[in-house]
Amino acid sequence: MKTFTYTGLPARVIFGFNTTSRLETELDNLSISRALVMTTPLQAEAGRRILEQLGDKGVGLFPDASMHTPVDVTGRALDQFEERGADGIVSFGGGSTINLGKAIALRNDAPQVVLPTSYAGSEMTPILGQTEGNLKTTLRSDRVLPETVIYDVNHTMTLPSLMTVTSSMNAIAHAVEAMYAENANPLLSLMAEEGVRAVVRALPKLRENRDDKSARYDALYGAWLCATCLGSGGVALHHKLCHVLGGSFNLPHAETHTIVLPHALAYNAPAVPDTMMRMRRATGSGTPAATLFDLARQGGAPVALKDLGMPESGIELAVETTFRNPYYNPRPFERDAIREIIADAWSGKRPGR
Ligand code: NAD
Repeated sequence: MKTFTYTGLPARVIFGFNTTSRLETELDNLSISRALVMTTPLQAEAGRRILEQLGDKGVGLFPDASMHTPVDVTGRALDQFEERGADGIVSFGGGSTINLGKAIALRNDAPQVVLPTSYAGSEMTPILGQTEGNLKTTLRSDRVLPETVIYDVNHTMTLPSLMTVTSSMNAIAHAVEAMYAENANPLLSLMAEEGVRAVVRALPKLRENRDDKSARYDALYGAWLCATCLGSGGVALHHKLCHVLGGSFNLPHAETHTIVLPHALAYNAPAVPDTMMRMRRATGSGTPAATLFDLARQGGAPVALKDLGMPESGIELAVETTFRNPYYNPRPFERDAIREIIADAWSGKRPGR
C-alpha cells in the first residue's frame, strides 16, 4: 500500500489502419495551414507522398533527419521552416525523425503532428536528446511533446525484420523500467504490462510473416503503451547501461537496448517481485528475462555487445562509467554483479531468470 504520484501528459492519439487520411483534419485542429514535413533520406519518398496529400497545407519536405539529432541538422531544418513560412511540423518516421521535429519545437514552439513508423516511442515523451560534435545532451521539456500522434499501422508494414525486433525490444525496455522506476505507479504498471503483452504476442507472428497485419497492429499498440510509460515514468539500470554503452562505444540505439534488457531485468529480478509477476503474465513464461533474450535471438537480432563492435577491454570502462553517476535503481548498484551482467551482455550469455 505504497503512496504514489501519477502525472499524465496531454496526448491526442489516433490509432488504426489508414489513419493518415485524418492528417489534414488534425492539422486544421491545430490551426496548421503551412506544414513542413520531416523524414530521413531513406523515407523521403514516403514523405513526398505525405506532402502531396497535404496539397496547399504543405510547404515542403526536409528529408535530412539523422541519428542523435545533430544541432547543425536542426539549424538547417529551422532555416527551411522560416524561409518557407511554415507554421507546423509533420514528422514521418522513427525516433530520429521525431526527435528532429521536437528539436525544432523546442526552439520555436511549432505544433507537431507525428506519424510514427517504428516502435521507438519518442512521440509520447517530453524527452529530447541532441548532439553537438561528440557531446550528447538530454533534456525534458513539455514544449517538445508532440500535440497529435497519428499511428497508422500501414506505415509499420515496411519496417525491416531486424528493426522490427530491435525496435520492439526498445519499446519493451520503456515498459519494464517504468514498472520499477522510482516514480512507479499502478496506472503505468497496467499500461506497461499490457504493452509488453501486446508486443511479445506480436513478435513470433512477425517473425513468421512480416506482413501479418493483426500482429503489426498489436506491436504498434503495445509500443504506444510502452512509449506512454517512458513519457510519464522513470528509468533505471537498463537505461543507464544503454546510455553508458551507447555513449562510450558509439553503439546503435535499438540493438543496444535489445542486448542489455534481459540482463538488466535479471539483475533487478530479486528486488522487484511485482514487476516479475507482471512480466511472467505478460510473456507467459516463468523466466521472462530469458524469454526476452530468446525472442531477440530467434528474431535474428544481435544478443552480444561484442557483435556490435564493443571491445572486451571496454567492460571495465563501462563499469566505471556506470558508477560515476548512478541512476535510481530498485536493487542497489553492486560492482561485481554489475560487472558480471555487462560481461554477460558482452559475450551474449542467456540469463537464467
Ligand atoms: P531511426 O528513427 O533512427 O530509424 C532508423 C532507420 O529506419 C531510418 O533510416 C528510418 O528512416 C528507417 N525507418 C524507420 N521506420 C521505418 C519503416 N517503417 N520502414 C522502413 N524504414 C524505416 O530509429 P528508431 O529506432 O526509430 O529511433 C532511434 C532514435 O530515437 C535514437 O536516436 C533514440 O535516441 C531516439 N529515441 C528517443 C526517444 C525520446 O523519448 N526522446 C525515445 C526512443 C528513442
